[in-house]
Amino acid sequence: MNQLKEKLTGALKKCAADIVRFAPAGRMRDPAVKKIFPEAKTVICVAFRQLRGTRRGIEEGTVYYQYTTSVETVEEVMIPGALLRGCSILEEAGFEALPQRRFQLVMPQEGETNFEIAYDEIYRGREAETVLDFEKCAEDCGLGEIGLSGSILTDDFGPNQRWGFILTDAELPPDESANPHLCDRCGECIKACPGHALSLDGRRNSWQCAAYYKGANRSKNPFLPPDILKDDPDRLKIIAGEADLTPEKAMEVIDQIHSYPPIKHAMVASMCGRACDTACYVHLEEKGVLKRKFKTPFRKRPVWSLPLEE
Ligand code: SF4
Ligand code: SF4
Repeated sequence: MNQLKEKLTGALKKCAADIVRFAPAGRMRDPAVKKIFPEAKTVICVAFRQLRGTRRGIEEGTVYYQYTTSVETVEEVMIPGALLRGCSILEEAGFEALPQRRFQLVMPQEGETNFEIAYDEIYRGREAETVLDFEKCAEDCGLGEIGLSGSILTDDFGPNQRWGFILTDAELPPDESANPHLCDRCGECIKACPGHALSLDGRRNSWQCAAYYKGANRSKNPFLPPDILKDDPDRLKIIAGEADLTPEKAMEVIDQIHSYPPIKHAMVASMCGRACDTACYVHLEEKGVLKRKFKTPFRKRPVWSLPLEE
């Protein structure tokens, strides 16, 4: 292995990165790479596992805070720290390096939302901001494949990882791009969503997802009071996850169901626990295709559900 690549990989892994992949910038389908850094020669993808145990509380319906705080720590502390360390090593070697972590608060497009973030904290329509397509770039770097749900699936962790990138003008030996083989189009991700926010072809309705990520389905949210949305004519459909929410309606619902403290950095607590990804993980684990094995399966009991009405 090239010495600089070896040094970078070692340093990033010391920062707790689990997977580090290198790709030539010319391989990237996303034109944003060249737009952001025209001289970029290499894109480095740096991925961290999302601990399986942080989903346990939501799986059991007992503790919700740990999942989102762990996402926040990986996104806001671990990924930026590791990217800066990698960039410093590249600068020391005389190359320019640009860290790219997810910037959750700015969206170039109007009318969309980011389900992990409070909708009223997002700056929309900022077309001047060039944002990488994180999933496409991860696939081109060889981190994993894009599953039907839109999540990146890896042999190591299934859908459970978060990642960032370093763009650099250093030319480094590439790794292979992804060879899709994990997603079998089983549809478990779609079935598991408590608000049918994923269509049959896997497209995500971002506003529907934002409302049900935050717990609009009463059968999956122990914090909703019995009279939630009591004056809404569509109350039952909404709390059963059967309503189709317009962006305006989703905002109204989100404002009313707010019942759990937000995390920092405008992240909202996940009440669905990304049930789509959990179902995918359970499916891939049952098939025995994941490299990281556990002593016991993640799903230990039937999925729980609360009555809609008391
Ligand atoms: S749950 Fe099935 S269809 Fe959905 S992403 Fe995972 S493997 Fe693909
Ligand atoms: S399970 Fe949660 S994160 Fe996944 S699509 Fe549904 S609401 Fe969104």
